Amino acid sequence: MSPENVFFFFRRRRRPVLRGCQAAANWLGFGVPDMMYDFETQRRELIESLRKMGIYDERVLSAMAAIPRELFVEESQCELAYADRALPICMGQTISQPLMVATMTQALQLKGHERVLEVGTGSGYQAAILACLAAHVYSIERHQQLAYQAAKRLQRLGLQNVSLYVGDGSLGWPNAAPYDRILVTAAAPEVPAQLMAQLVTWGMLVVPVGSQERQDLLIVYRAPWGPEKRSLGSCVFVPLVGEEGWHE
Ligand code: SAM
Repeated sequence: MSPENVFFFFRRRRRPVLRGCQAAANWLGFGVPDMMYDFETQRRELIESLRKMGIYDERVLSAMAAIPRELFVEESQCELAYADRALPICMGQTISQPLMVATMTQALQLKGHERVLEVGTGSGYQAAILACLAAHVYSIERHQQLAYQAAKRLQRLGLQNVSLYVGDGSLGWPNAAPYDRILVTAAAPEVPAQLMAQLVTWGMLVVPVGSQERQDLLIVYRAPWGPEKRSLGSCVFVPLVGEEGWHE
């Protein structure tokens, strides 16, 4: 894990991040595409539907209300930015469904002081939401092109508490460990042992585990006596490809 791979490192923010997110969203709200599609109204409607579907953490809802998802989807998918569905991004990957982003983020129970590792940066949308809710986000992506695009988006939003790394996230980011929370946004065949080892005691890992076709979304605590697991239900993610994931 050489330092030159950490091509994007933001300093810790000095002002409340949720206020920073809101300012960025306001600034982006006046663009031409926004006038065409009225993203602000669509974003508000999405938040209301997430509430109805059981998302109750107001901090999570505020972060999702502040981050413009249209900035993270392909231009050709712009009008679907607020549909509650996963959308294709480049390298055959996806930006996760908003309900899944909200469910996973809510499961993390972030209070604002946490150091969070995300495995699978993809578009950078989930990292942006986490950056609004935690002290610092470390995010790893295996595709350099995706990481580069995500870096540009996060920079454009002025989110200063995210570090991105290109590499095999199934092995974590040991140099920056331990983490209070780890979120894996790709499907693993088993709970990755190296990720568990990079959590603080009572830290939490949220990870989809199962076959390549269908998984269980697991919450795993690093209890002093060993992993404590519970399931949040079934889900479908693209595979985690790597040493502690699926082999290519
Ligand atoms: N969190 C993303 C977002 O907000 O757009 C969505 C992630 S997408 C469902 C899963 C991502 O995991 C893909 O971008 C994929 O390239 C990445 N991935 C798969 N295996 C990986 C690995 N071993 N290390 C890092 N990233 C990996």
